[in-house]
Amino acid sequence: MALATEKDLSNREFDLLVVGGGIVGSGVARDAAMRGLATAVIDKQDFASGTSSRSSRLLHGGIRYLAQGNIGLVREASREKMVIHKIAPHLSDPLAFIFPTHKRSTWSLWKLGIGVKVYDLLCGRRNLGKSTVLNRKQILELLPGLQTSNLSGAVRYFDGITNDARLTVDTLRSACNHGASVTNYVRFIDAHQENDIWRCELQNTTTNVSYEIHAKCVINATGPWSHNLPHSKTSLRLTKGVHLVIDRSRLPVPDAVVFAEGSRILFAIPWGERVILGTTDTDYDGPIDSPRCEPEDQQYVLDVVNEAFPAVGLSNQDVLSTWAGLRPLVADKHGNPSDISRRHEIKMSHPGWWDVTGGKLTSYRLMAEETVDAVAHFLRPSIEPCRTATTPLLETPNSIHVSGILPPEVSEAAVEHYCNQEWAVHLDDVMIRRTSWRYYHSDHMSIARIVADWMGNFLGWSDVAMNRELSHYEMLAESGKVPPPHFNNSLNGNPSILSREDTYSKS
Ligand SMILES: Cc1cc2nc3c(=O)[nH]c(=O)nc-3n(C[C@H](O)[C@H](O)[C@H](O)COP(=O)(O)OP(=O)(O)OC[C@H]3O[C@@H](n4cnc5c(N)ncnc54)[C@H](O)[C@@H]3O)c2cc1C
Repeated sequence: MALATEKDLSNREFDLLVVGGGIVGSGVARDAAMRGLATAVIDKQDFASGTSSRSSRLLHGGIRYLAQGNIGLVREASREKMVIHKIAPHLSDPLAFIFPTHKRSTWSLWKLGIGVKVYDLLCGRRNLGKSTVLNRKQILELLPGLQTSNLSGAVRYFDGITNDARLTVDTLRSACNHGASVTNYVRFIDAHQENDIWRCELQNTTTNVSYEIHAKCVINATGPWSHNLPHSKTSLRLTKGVHLVIDRSRLPVPDAVVFAEGSRILFAIPWGERVILGTTDTDYDGPIDSPRCEPEDQQYVLDVVNEAFPAVGLSNQDVLSTWAGLRPLVADKHGNPSDISRRHEIKMSHPGWWDVTGGKLTSYRLMAEETVDAVAHFLRPSIEPCRTATTPLLETPNSIHVSGILPPEVSEAAVEHYCNQEWAVHLDDVMIRRTSWRYYHSDHMSIARIVADWMGNFLGWSDVAMNRELSHYEMLAESGKVPPPHFNNSLNGNPSILSREDTYSKS
């Protein structure tokens, strides 16, 4: 799948420029391209390198939002959960959740018992599985090591597990199949409007070359960065959430487990031979490009799990990998972070300019549909209706070996596919977003060396470029933090353009 070049972008007038290749921007690009709009989508780093590769990977209505009485939001997300299950079966598996309840807790068994039945009904027709109420004996058969004091029983209900970054990349592949121009490592700098056309200044963050592109409409889909984009009228409250990955042998749970912490809930989510633990929800005002899992975040999550499973005794040594992400919540300065609504907002801030913020991974398709409906109304009301809820994400089932919920086998063919068909240009594009190998494998560093060799052949890296890629990746892996902005990478090995790109100042 060809990367749109500067020439492709600057020689055309687009109906729509989508800024941000996270799940929201990718969804908008797919929907717009399917309705015949001339669409371009750009990202200043790799696609999904923001929040859309740092979520809990759940397709969920949100049992917690039900407890908050937010039925509309739960119904909307529950229906979308079923839509994604239908259009992208390779990226949606039903997942059972066991939610233990305790005497004198706010999450009482009888309330949750009713809640999960309502939850099933809100999916429209049928949930991904039927919820049940478990007594003490049944729950201890399923989770033998569970702490028993005050345990009153549990509910078992269903949501879905996905792969956030893969959902984003496959949505972009679909957008591209429908004619969208797709480019990563291109930053939106600024824009001005002339005769109803937005003249947008972009910069290739690899070569530093700037150029202009023209579009009738611009969509600001930059997630946690969206209040910083020129012309944005968005106001955000950012909260951070972290995840830890441990080996499943250390916590051999058959289903996902819910841990109640006051009004918050955390999860242990089975992921092949691993378990994902998370997440936190704390206000954040650090650098947007580099949220990280701090030692105290990690300790908090381990403590919650150790309290629920006292014999397990998880420690820092059990943590194979971590990631941290920022929720771009529509601003609400008051209240606990976890009580802020996950609703989305689509606002035309200037003629032809939309800020699209908030929401969830699960509801991305609906956000995209509503955004493109608004654009269509503005541009020409005769545009075709939305088809994204019924059209398979990828027509051909040829994604099995390269895209799924679990990481694919490490293979040269897969890496070639990511470089040629999925816009991977840096080692961490493949190791983190295309495959999750970094998070899943304890020997990810040796895998990275092999992958770098393959990528070097496919992309023509010089020795200098190869070493920069490896040391940058090693630095990411050692610090355990999410990717900082990329250094400029020269594919022809010219050391003069290998300096790091400084984007911290922008955020
Ligand atoms: C810890 C955590 C757990 C979550 N778990 C779930 C879950 O289980 N289920 C669920 O449904 N939702 C979940 N969410 C929410 C969900 O992940 C987010 O709502 C969603 O990923 C946001 O996507 P986005 O496209 O708006 O933002 P992003 O994915 O951050 O995309 C924005 C993109 O814009 C790009 N960009 C920024 N500035 C520029 C510029 N100037 N030029 C070009 N590009 C630019 C960035 O590089 C980035 O790639 C979770 C969120 C967090 C933080």
